[in-house]
Amino acid sequence: MKKEMAVCPDDGFPLVGTFMVMGAEYYCLKCRGAYGMLYEDHAKETPARLKKKEEAEKVVRFLSGSINTGGGKLQNCKKCFPDKGEGERYHVSHLTDEEKTAEEAAELILKMLATA
Ligand SMILES: [Zn+2]
Ligand SMILES: [Zn+2]
Repeated sequence: MKKEMAVCPDDGFPLVGTFMVMGAEYYCLKCRGAYGMLYEDHAKETPARLKKKEEAEKVVRFLSGSINTGGGKLQNCKKCFPDKGEGERYHVSHLTDEEKTAEEAAELILKMLATA
């Protein structure tokens, strides 16, 4: 039996499962597209595709900690979860300079990879 794997509907690049992008379960490292379960395509699983997927997973796992996608709070952030009161609704509304730099760097890496 031939196994199948999720690939990008645009370019056939193996999709990586991630929660980096809100509302999308899959991410394409090549075109930076985010896809929900409904939009994935399928292709035969091959050693080359599997390898690409593994590499993409590593990159995405490494970078996803630096990318803030707009929704939600950050667990151990004092502004999101102050000792008193509600806290700010979105962590992105009070990013530190360090977080902004990390995010810019992560964005740049993704952009470079996409055009490689
Ligand atoms: Zn793609
Ligand atoms: Zn926060």
